[in-house]
Amino acid sequence: MKAIQVHRAGGPEVLELTDLPKPSPGPGQVLVKVEAVGLNFADILYVAGEYLVRTRYPTIPGMEFAGVIEALGEGVEGLHPGQRVAALGGSGAFAEYALVPARSVLPVPAQMSAAEAAAFPVSYFTAYFALATQARARPGEWVLVQAAAGALGTASIQVAKVLGLRVIALASSEEKLALCQGLGAEVALLNTQGDLVDAVKNATEGKGVDILMEVVGGEGFAQSLKMLAYRGRLLVIGSASRQMAQMYPVSLMKGNQSVIGVWLTPFLSDPAEMQAATAFLMPLVASGQIRPVVGQRFKLEEAAEAFRFVLSRKNTGKVILEP
Ligand code: NDP
Repeated sequence: MKAIQVHRAGGPEVLELTDLPKPSPGPGQVLVKVEAVGLNFADILYVAGEYLVRTRYPTIPGMEFAGVIEALGEGVEGLHPGQRVAALGGSGAFAEYALVPARSVLPVPAQMSAAEAAAFPVSYFTAYFALATQARARPGEWVLVQAAAGALGTASIQVAKVLGLRVIALASSEEKLALCQGLGAEVALLNTQGDLVDAVKNATEGKGVDILMEVVGGEGFAQSLKMLAYRGRLLVIGSASRQMAQMYPVSLMKGNQSVIGVWLTPFLSDPAEMQAATAFLMPLVASGQIRPVVGQRFKLEEAAEAFRFVLSRKNTGKVILEP
């Protein structure tokens, strides 16, 4: 089978197209014929050896995908060959076939395309855990979404709207802002404008935002803290700038503010939290109330080009690789 393998840490240049034997499922595993892979910023960090888990080379990247079950390993129940599924977690999806633990498989509603299903799990589960679980969002609160036209950003706007939040979207082009407004963002601001803190304060009657989804980090982090309302929660979800951020914790005291970490991976092995998230998200998907934004599509062998595309900040929604 075709696969993208990585032998050393690096950027798009280390992604190698290779031919490997088709894997067979072990106990508790499912073999899926991959139809579409969601490309996450985390894949870029994982290949670069900069992710939160250590990358062991050689590796096949890819943590979310959709496809059709080809074979079941010993002891797997409740799934069947030919079934359309999406899968979340681990690695190995940049290939024609991928193995996944049976518990990491989600059913795909009939009306959802493979590309939409591949664009769904990471972004929407993260958006839910960030807003509902970690920030304990309440209807009527303001949330600021950074990189709002991206994969997590578009998912976050949709989940925020369902939770009754008012959304301020930040992104780097007018075209991206228009997409965010189409998804329900009440306020959309270019992240390049100079007086961003003032603009956010003005949009919220001087109060600032109750929740801020920080995915860029670096120098802008200090500015994000200034945008928080009294009792505001800043969610540390990513660091797309790949720069260190500085903060003075004492500055949080005056406004009873919080800085909260969010990482999807540990939630995946927390059955109660996964059940709550699934019960929230799946009916919304089935009813069409939330719908993943599928961005640009690339062939599997164009993975390096897809990495460059995301790194150049050109993507909207989730970039998809198709074997
Ligand atoms: P996106 O589709 O959002 O793409 C990344 C976006 O980040 C860009 O389009 C760009 O938007 C913005 N950006 C800002 N600064 C930079 C930079 N220096 N280089 C590149 N992009 C930059 O990606 P994802 O949805 O996959 O991920 C978004 C963020 O969320 C990442 O930081 C990722 O690590 C994090 N994440 C964290 C998860 C968790 O469990 N904690 C789960 C999923 C994602 P613009 O041009 O509009 O500024």
